[in-house]
Amino acid sequence: MAQTNLYPIRCPSCGAQQDETLYDSIDVGKEPDLRRQLLENKLNAVTCNACGNRFRIDKNLLYHDSREGWMIYLNPHSPENQDQAVSEFRDVLEDLNSVLPADQTLPEVDLVLSRIELVERIFVREAGLHPKVIEYVKYLIYTQNLDQFMPEDKAILLNGQECNEDQLCFVVQDVETHKLETLLHYKRETYNSLVELLIEDGDTSMVNQLFPGPYISARAYLMQDEV
Ligand SMILES: [Zn+2]
Repeated sequence: MAQTNLYPIRCPSCGAQQDETLYDSIDVGKEPDLRRQLLENKLNAVTCNACGNRFRIDKNLLYHDSREGWMIYLNPHSPENQDQAVSEFRDVLEDLNSVLPADQTLPEVDLVLSRIELVERIFVREAGLHPKVIEYVKYLIYTQNLDQFMPEDKAILLNGQECNEDQLCFVVQDVETHKLETLLHYKRETYNSLVELLIEDGDTSMVNQLFPGPYISARAYLMQDEV
């Protein structure tokens, strides 16, 4: 079931304060409409009672698809602060485990650090794609095009709506302006060979070395690597 709490909110436009009920966790298996609201930017959106300004609150959110058996935890942080995000995430996992009946185990939980990463990961999970292989593809795109796509400046995201049977589609987003810039196509055949090579053969050491988790991100890995 979804969980909500009352939060004190300050309007970024006029500074007025009000209390607002916001979602801490949602189960889209039980309430599919919450998935739609999230994708349409309407979840945890607030309208200011004083000036009518409409804005979204970027807060932590546990996204659970109980039909498919996976969870994604959104913990808004910059990639530079991923250590803190990971440590908070471990506490959340502990809390989740502590309320589970003894005969149940927690489903797989992904960690993402931004709302756009959450939306992307929902598409990745719903399409049955492997997050680590998708990030590996991004790693290849970055490292082969460093003159065009510097990880500091550009985020590469899977564009779930433009993917088809033959091709995966990625979009390059400028980190500062949030503008979506270039569409990149990647052969699904090549992706499938990577899955065989990196996952199904059982030799996951290479992707696990790049992305030990729980936060799996080619961009964060490359930014860390450059220090
Ligand atoms: Zn206001």
